[in-house]
Amino acid sequence: MHHMTLAEIARGLADKKFSSVELTQTLLARIAQLDPQINSFISLTQDLALSQAKAADERRANGESGALLGAPIAHKDLFCTQGIRTSCGSKMLDNFKAPYDATVVAKLAASGAVTLGKTNMDEFAMGSANESSWYGAVKNPWNLEHVPGGSSGGSAAAVAARLLPAATATDTGGSIRQPAAFTNLTGLKPTYGRVSRWGMIAYASSLDQGGPLARTAEDCAILLQGMAGFDPNDSTSIDEPVPDYSAGLNGSLQGLRIGVPKEYFSAGLDPRIAELIHNSIKELEKLGAVIKEISLPNMQHAIPAYYVIAPAEASSNLSRFDGVRFGYRCENPENLEDLYKRSRGEGFGSEVQRRIMVGAYALSAGYYDAYYLKAQKIRRLVKNDFMSAFNEVDIILGPTTPNPAWKLGAKSSDPVAAYLEDVYTITANLAGLPGLSMPAGFVDGLPVGVQLLAPYFQEGRLLNVAHQYQLNTDWHTRTPTGF
Ligand code: GLN
Repeated sequence: MHHMTLAEIARGLADKKFSSVELTQTLLARIAQLDPQINSFISLTQDLALSQAKAADERRANGESGALLGAPIAHKDLFCTQGIRTSCGSKMLDNFKAPYDATVVAKLAASGAVTLGKTNMDEFAMGSANESSWYGAVKNPWNLEHVPGGSSGGSAAAVAARLLPAATATDTGGSIRQPAAFTNLTGLKPTYGRVSRWGMIAYASSLDQGGPLARTAEDCAILLQGMAGFDPNDSTSIDEPVPDYSAGLNGSLQGLRIGVPKEYFSAGLDPRIAELIHNSIKELEKLGAVIKEISLPNMQHAIPAYYVIAPAEASSNLSRFDGVRFGYRCENPENLEDLYKRSRGEGFGSEVQRRIMVGAYALSAGYYDAYYLKAQKIRRLVKNDFMSAFNEVDIILGPTTPNPAWKLGAKSSDPVAAYLEDVYTITANLAGLPGLSMPAGFVDGLPVGVQLLAPYFQEGRLLNVAHQYQLNTDWHTRTPTGF
């Protein structure tokens, strides 16, 4: 049962081949048996899952249907879940039980999805390796000595290990697409504003966006359908109709103009990944796509700009975790200053502290213009590059990451080395554009992803291209040994 995709589960439930309760019990047992190897969950919600599954079975028995009705999923542990620990992967929030459900959580629950638990993540979503979690590193099911990518590494590892068919995740600079690439999944970061951020604990508010991680584009369409839509509680949510993503999967790719930026194939890219990307281009050409070389001239400035803007926003967002308003409080503080210092010093891990310091510095009087304002100007240039490119092409294609998943610990003492791995993903966040990563082959037994970017609100186009590619390739069907 655990090999089924969301689409197959929906058909099986509709045909009464099994019940949601049976499926939920099977997957909970599988998680108990296998998760100790990969550490993909922070909390399991067995009781909630079984009661949601029972309710979904009753709704189906009463004639209701729906692709998510009775489908097991999990939430990245930064989506607030009422009465359930919402830790953000941090000691700071280890004992925080959210008083309400995030909009995404509430919407998916209303569609009848069953929540199996909360998945592990880099602390406060900062990272690309899922090694900075207070709950320990997550391992990549394809090779337990390698990282699964981050910061949504728990959601990715759990889906890749067939512990469940799909999970929610968030992407501030690549945290859906990069772990998707590292674990052979399909992951979609929607347009900024497409999915509500209400109840999603903020890292960098102008970049954060929730989205689906699953094995296929077809399943991403199903999960995104349950997540997307206007939310009056989120002032950056956009009131734009949500198309039927599943109905849009069968468009022909004849004449689709694919732009391939020449800057993508520079010295930093592993040549074996470059070859797989060229193979995926050939595959799409066979399906009728037309390839055009394009240029994104400001791409080289994107990493420095992102690593000023994201920490600046984080330093502000994380100021509420002070041991008074929110979060961990130190033992026996001597005075107020000691309480703040030790609560934050003990509650936050080292990467989070580094980002808060960088961000507070970049925003401080005297440095604001030199760093923060400059970074915002670069952000606009990056966006303008995309706007001109999309005058000529329908989709932009390239690698999701310059290298496959690295060994656990390989980059932990060199944060900048890890930041450089985000080179292909962060530009979409700076511009607010939708991006998708899908499986494109393997290097030394480790999965490689190809990334597709589209104009604003063209999630449907990304899903359509990925689905057509997946109908003609089988990379996404490969399963890690032992799972
Ligand atoms: N790796 C990037 C960072 O550490 C992106 C993380 C994310 O998308 N949440 O900021």
